[in-house]
Amino acid sequence: MKVRVRFAPSPTGKLHLGNARTAIFNWLFARHSQGSFVLRIEDTDKERSKPEYEAQLIETLRWLGIDWDEGPNKKGNFGPYRQSERLHIYQEYIQRLLREEKAYYCYCTEEELETERQLCLKKGLPPRYSGKCRYLTEAQKREYEKQGRQPVIRFKVPEDEVVIFEDLIKGKMRFFSNDIGDFVIVRSNGIPAYNFAVVIDDILMQITHVVRGEDHLSNTASQYLLYKALGFTPPQFAHHSLLLAPDRTKLSKRHGAVSVEEYRKEGFLPQALFFYLATLGRGAQKEIWDRKQLVKRFDLKMAGKGNAIFDKKQLLWVNKQLLRALPLEDVSSYAQPFLPEADKGLLKKFVALVRENVSTLKEMADLWPIFNTSKIALSKQAIEALKNPEAQMVLSLFYEALKTGQNDYEAILHEIYQKTQFKGKNLMLPLRIALTGVNNGPQLHAIFEYLPHEWLVSRLKAALNLVRQS
Ligand code: GLU
Repeated sequence: MKVRVRFAPSPTGKLHLGNARTAIFNWLFARHSQGSFVLRIEDTDKERSKPEYEAQLIETLRWLGIDWDEGPNKKGNFGPYRQSERLHIYQEYIQRLLREEKAYYCYCTEEELETERQLCLKKGLPPRYSGKCRYLTEAQKREYEKQGRQPVIRFKVPEDEVVIFEDLIKGKMRFFSNDIGDFVIVRSNGIPAYNFAVVIDDILMQITHVVRGEDHLSNTASQYLLYKALGFTPPQFAHHSLLLAPDRTKLSKRHGAVSVEEYRKEGFLPQALFFYLATLGRGAQKEIWDRKQLVKRFDLKMAGKGNAIFDKKQLLWVNKQLLRALPLEDVSSYAQPFLPEADKGLLKKFVALVRENVSTLKEMADLWPIFNTSKIALSKQAIEALKNPEAQMVLSLFYEALKTGQNDYEAILHEIYQKTQFKGKNLMLPLRIALTGVNNGPQLHAIFEYLPHEWLVSRLKAALNLVRQS
């Protein structure tokens, strides 16, 4: 049977790293098994879903290099792929459950439900709906309707049933139906709730494997009961571990940046986020695999079982490696949005100069003024570092040589060495600081190559003046 998986985001905000990880697992699983990857937009929450969030989600997935075989704005045999466009489809199944008395209208108000909840908690019981609207008479229903109450539809959870399924990652799972209260399948606005719509869609879209975070496990138990009530064979389930913060709680906003977009803005490459999220559960990686290798080696259990503690330092390491390793052309095009004004040819030269010295594209962009504007400002600290007589000697010897028009920089360095016996840091560091204002960065010879000769001359002159005046 051909594998069909889906990623089903709700367009209620930016794509969270945890959800991106779910998308990546599904995508890798589909590509690994030559199956289909479906994108389904779960936009039934009318208040929170927004078309601009959907557009942003799609853009973010594309940026991550995730493509889909079926989805909104893409042809497929199982569409539409937006739940808000599938409302008519759900009707048939809702009516069937009502007809077969497997579902019922519930007229309880928010306040009544809250009172019930508090009562359960007081008794030390998990809060669940008592099922009191199961037994309403027609007259009672009419009375409630007269009062203007808008009913929801609840699923009648069968008593004393045990839900057992074999999770592909977590192994055997067991739930008792008596722990599950009659849950809402259609809200009072007539729109199906998640647990219901997801079952109908997964069946009609012929999804073979549902791969999602383990925070959905209790939903799966409810969904299992629905599959059974509707006479459907459920897909296989795989619940992966959640993305945790270093304090081992679910990664959330209070831990800092959590959306893919924020990392994109910070200057991470999509390949870095993709690789890092794909392999996080496997422990620290020493070698970075490209997408082809990731597809080839993907193993749902390995990827989804382990603890996944998000470590930004590790992600930075991956990003740094990839900034060096990816084709220059690609890194330059990822750098372009950070330096929109930069000329393409010059940008490429610049990226080649600095890419080994930075961990993010943003850090790279921060270096742009040093190498691409004629003047630099030297900090107090920099001037201080150039004050010693040895440094001044190196600077003025280099400056004198440049002034005579010499441009064989290696030869000049060699001459200075012969005169002063300074080498290594003593020779290089003053020049580096005078020319760039900072004490680390690209190789000195690369800096000489990159900066126009007249800038070398003017920067050395400016540095010497400042040091002498101070
Ligand atoms: N819309 C749900 C979510 O974003 C999908 C969960 C699922 O994969 O079933 O959490």
